[in-house]
Amino acid sequence: MNESPSIGPTPVTQPGADVSHSIDWDRIRADFPLLRRQVHGKPLIYFDSANTGQKPAAVIEAVDDFYRRHNANVSRAVHQLGSEATESYESARKKLARFLNVRADELVLCSGTTFAINLVAYSWALPRLKPGDAILLTRMEHHANIVPWQLIAERTGASIKVVELTPEGALDLDMLHALMTPEVKLLAVAHVSNVLGTANPVREICREARRRGIVTVVDGSQAVPHRPVDIKAIGCDFYALTGHKMCGPTGTGALWARKEHLVAMPPFIGGGEMIKEVSFDGTVYNDVPYKFEAGTPNIAGFVGLAAAVDYLEALGMANVEAREQALLAHLMEELSKFDGLRVFGTAPGKAAVVSFLVEGAHAHDLATLLDLEGVAIRSGQHCAHPLLQWFGVAATCRASLAFYNTHEEVEHFVAALHKVRKLLG
Ligand code: PLP
Repeated sequence: MNESPSIGPTPVTQPGADVSHSIDWDRIRADFPLLRRQVHGKPLIYFDSANTGQKPAAVIEAVDDFYRRHNANVSRAVHQLGSEATESYESARKKLARFLNVRADELVLCSGTTFAINLVAYSWALPRLKPGDAILLTRMEHHANIVPWQLIAERTGASIKVVELTPEGALDLDMLHALMTPEVKLLAVAHVSNVLGTANPVREICREARRRGIVTVVDGSQAVPHRPVDIKAIGCDFYALTGHKMCGPTGTGALWARKEHLVAMPPFIGGGEMIKEVSFDGTVYNDVPYKFEAGTPNIAGFVGLAAAVDYLEALGMANVEAREQALLAHLMEELSKFDGLRVFGTAPGKAAVVSFLVEGAHAHDLATLLDLEGVAIRSGQHCAHPLLQWFGVAATCRASLAFYNTHEEVEHFVAALHKVRKLLG
């Protein structure tokens, strides 16, 4: 299982060098088989990558190859297939750790961000928080970074405080600093908002929090797939991410945590793999990170995620970001000419996620009619009810782009939007 993916971009750049203009993006797009299909007789325009990303053939083939030639459980068997499966799984951990600039033994593999944040909530926060303590959240969080904290607040008597936003959809940093009071024990913040595209200054935020002894949890779901992420440089305590938004399979993700936290935290889920020894008198838990990985993991999924990391690394995350910024600039320029269209989230440096409403048209009607034009966007509340409540709207449309989209698609999308708006009168 050590073969490199047969299909994928050839290495094009040194880390940090922006040569995105010299990449043949059409060839990159051709690596994604699904993007060739039609929907309702029209070429698919997939603008829903914030929801889940499409997969290059290299990832699909890695998963297929695992099941065809290597399938076995990890760590439990001494036979050849067992060691191949274990090696592949551990190699995925190492690749992901290198990609994020962290140590592999500080990376807990899990099903995704939702699991990762719940792990912190139940293993770190639940045993520590007490009445009088506070958890600091922001208005722009995804439900996955709100509801686990509400559950912990209910059980511990801690309270929740919320940092509000500026009109452009950036965090109100003065308010954030003012709310970092001594009773705040934990701050949970999105790296990039899944609705607004706002990229939060997590490095500065974590530095301020650390100075005040506040533990930080960064939700990296929408950052890792779209920009270079160096967790060590961010300086947080916990960083959660999800594999399916970064070209990897569903049901994969990770929690990075400082080792001292992982060592001090009790296990979250019990079962096989997370133990060294079990007797009815007591159980000795495995070392970290295995202490947090009970049960059979999504082995094939992580083989796919390793292929996704290879793919993105070969492309260069700085190039991915530059490409997506160019697509975003084009989309924003086109939308600025569109009468009666309101964009939610215009903070400088935002990611290629554009939430919008068109005057007189319901978000779901727009998305449904766009689907008939072959355009896949999301409409609704994007798992961010508190954010939409703050904007005073019931739903928005959201177009979210990735490097495999094209400038032609941006133009077709805007033309389709004009067309469906006319249909809606
Ligand atoms: N956080 C953010 C910002 C997200 O965009 C998402 C998914 O949309 C999640 C958390 C949850 O990720 P998952 O469902 O993969 O656990």
